[in-house]
Amino acid sequence: MTLERDESGRLHIVSPLMGESLMDKSLLASTDTGPVYRPLPDLTVVKVGGQSVIDRGRSALLPILDELVAARQSHKIVITTGGGTRARHAYAIAMDLGMPTGVMARLGSSISEQNALMVAVLLSQRGGIKIGHDDLPKLAQYLTLGCLPVVHAMPPYGLFERPPALGRIPPHRTDAGAFLLAEVMGARRCILIKDEHGLYTADPKKDPAAHFIPEIEVNELLARDLEDLAVERSMLEALRDARSLHEVFIVNGLENGNITRAIAGEQVGTRIYKKVDGSR
Ligand code: ADP
Ligand code: MG
Repeated sequence: MTLERDESGRLHIVSPLMGESLMDKSLLASTDTGPVYRPLPDLTVVKVGGQSVIDRGRSALLPILDELVAARQSHKIVITTGGGTRARHAYAIAMDLGMPTGVMARLGSSISEQNALMVAVLLSQRGGIKIGHDDLPKLAQYLTLGCLPVVHAMPPYGLFERPPALGRIPPHRTDAGAFLLAEVMGARRCILIKDEHGLYTADPKKDPAAHFIPEIEVNELLARDLEDLAVERSMLEALRDARSLHEVFIVNGLENGNITRAIAGEQVGTRIYKKVDGSR
């Protein structure tokens, strides 16, 4: 950036964005040049599902935590937590009371944070440390110290969450939060731990004829416009527009060994990917 003094003697910092509305399309396109810095390129972001895992209690959660503790010996891992059934209960009451979407987003956030607290407490003798969103820039240091950070996955839009096109439920919930965290950290992997083998053509709990989808390109998945999904649509949109991370995995954590394999780099469950130049 160069400094320039105008005729009146005022000093200006000359930049390509100076005097712009930041809405001009060709100017916006010109900002997408050069690589995006990846603060933690060897990080694995794991989301432990709220409804799909944590709500099932110790029989489901404890073996998953054991796998994560073992995997962290050789991998940098941050655990994020979903909200689950209690979030759904809060949304239902909030809907009945006419609460705006932004208020519901605040409710969802505190519930996923409750789950982060419980997971961190369960891991307290094995490195677990509950951190907040403001602590995320310190993630590398927590990992260097040998900690296993646990953070709630609800993204912090809070009261500023935008109302969705359809319905009133906050559109950015914990799948989107886990993915966006992985994206901003430039992580190597984002793994969503759930209770089904991955993505199907329909909810396998409701439709026994649903077909398993081992791998799908994100634009193709969005274009299919499936009636129901195992992940938030906003997460798919985030993947479509992501700059650093080009895939996400949905893994059945109830089957022992799946998480270990997924963290080690094997393709387990469903891989949803973004096609970038030259990639599959
Ligand atoms: P989490 O608690 O991890 O956020 P959710 O319960 O919100 O998980 O979402 C996962 C659930 O979504 C699965 O357990 C499954 O019953 C349901 N589901 C709906 N549609 C699909 C689909 N097309 N493929 C797979 N699962 C689906
Ligand atoms: Mg969910």
